[in-house]
Amino acid sequence: MIFRAKYVVQSAKKFLENGALRVENGRIADVGRASSIRGSGEVVDFGECAIVPGLVNAHTHLELSAMRGLAPRGGSFTDWLRKVVELKRRMAREDFLTSTDAGLRESIQAGTTTLANVSSDETGLKTLAESGIRCVALLEVIAFEKFRAADAMDTLGDRFEAAKRFEGLGIGVAPHAPYTVSPELMSACAQFARKHDLPISVHSAETSEEAAFLYGHDGGIAAFLRDMGISLDDWEPPLATPIKYLASLGVLSGKTLLVHCNYLTRDEVEIVKKSGGHVVYCPRSSEFFGHVDHPLHRLLNAGVNVALGTDSLASSGTLSVLDEIKFLARKHRKTFPARFWDMATINGTRALGVSRRTGTLEKKKSADMAVISLEGCSGRTPLEMAVEDGARVVATIAQGRVLHNVLA
Ligand SMILES: [Zn+2]
Repeated sequence: MIFRAKYVVQSAKKFLENGALRVENGRIADVGRASSIRGSGEVVDFGECAIVPGLVNAHTHLELSAMRGLAPRGGSFTDWLRKVVELKRRMAREDFLTSTDAGLRESIQAGTTTLANVSSDETGLKTLAESGIRCVALLEVIAFEKFRAADAMDTLGDRFEAAKRFEGLGIGVAPHAPYTVSPELMSACAQFARKHDLPISVHSAETSEEAAFLYGHDGGIAAFLRDMGISLDDWEPPLATPIKYLASLGVLSGKTLLVHCNYLTRDEVEIVKKSGGHVVYCPRSSEFFGHVDHPLHRLLNAGVNVALGTDSLASSGTLSVLDEIKFLARKHRKTFPARFWDMATINGTRALGVSRRTGTLEKKKSADMAVISLEGCSGRTPLEMAVEDGARVVATIAQGRVLHNVLA
């Protein structure tokens, strides 16, 4: 099968005008100028479009997709969390499944071909495994009281065994956050991830209340935990910032995804860099909560690998990674958009350990692509055009299969 378009963007640094790709057995067999790509089989010409590497959503919670617009904007983070917990308690197993399914469909229509999803139980794992895109199920762990750590690890072990039965499904561990997972459990999750060579994803340094809690302040987070009936009797505040605290528990490594990182000290940026860990920035979710000064440029300048995530529809308007890129391009007008495209593609695959297989459009890599219509766009390069308002995803191809195509 041959796919052609006005532009083939192989990576943020390299594009071809009038380009084409030949796909065989789910992989890119050849890529170049349309005139030089030959072969038998069907030819799909997308015309006035850019074929770009499939987008990578490195952090989302698809099971919360039914919560679009339901959680309050502009209030405190813990008020939002209370609302999400309340809405989640009202959801039946069937609702989680419907929600995951709808979120997955929306993600595919938005050009996502690699997705890391935080899964709070086994509901939805089959849907993820059979989606046609590359999914990593991050098995969520939450238990703040010390005595619950052993049970939580037993459950994680069982869930890991159950998840392994789904062929093609990537697996990782997601201890929720420093204020919902006890230090003993956080450390045990890190050991588990190391033992099984899995990615580990933690919500980190998301709010300033989080650091305050770790320094022993009896503020919003402590009140939230008490409201949830959680005892703080065993809690000994580490008197450290979130990243230093996680590092002390052995969480940081080249397989660690630190999600959000809205508030980082200079030291913490260095610690992340030295550990080889990755940061997953969710720009519109950060904006939803009013975190305006994300240390994105400090991280990039330090050489930290920063990937993008949409977070859930409880704090973001869509599950589109292209919408995140457009948001960043509007917010940072002086930054060359190619940086954001790297974050949305190759950086995400690096964070998830699959960059040798996907993330750029090169020979032998998986044929994972998003097709973006550039009609009416006027930028100088295809990636500049693709961040304009009118640019939209019209097709998604994953492992050589056309999963979505509005032009067909
Ligand atoms: Zn999240």
